[in-house]
Amino acid sequence: MPELILESPSTRTSLTCCQNCGHTSHCGGPKYVTFKDYAVDGGEYREVKICNHCRCEDCSKQRERKWQKKTTKED
Ligand SMILES: [Zn+2]
Ligand SMILES: [Zn+2]
Repeated sequence: MPELILESPSTRTSLTCCQNCGHTSHCGGPKYVTFKDYAVDGGEYREVKICNHCRCEDCSKQRERKWQKKTTKED
């Protein structure tokens, strides 16, 4: 198994964690992590999708907010 070297920079500052994959939250999209292959395998960087949907505190809050907006909206 190649060594995990870094997480996607866009999600690094977040303090909340996705309950699906256990990594930092990745609201609104799938979670990718970057692996570096062993030198014998070419030493290439690879992005691997580890989670399809985020499920963190922010997500549940947003869902609540959306739901409330929808129910009070009149059109
Ligand atoms: Zn996740
Ligand atoms: Zn989230």
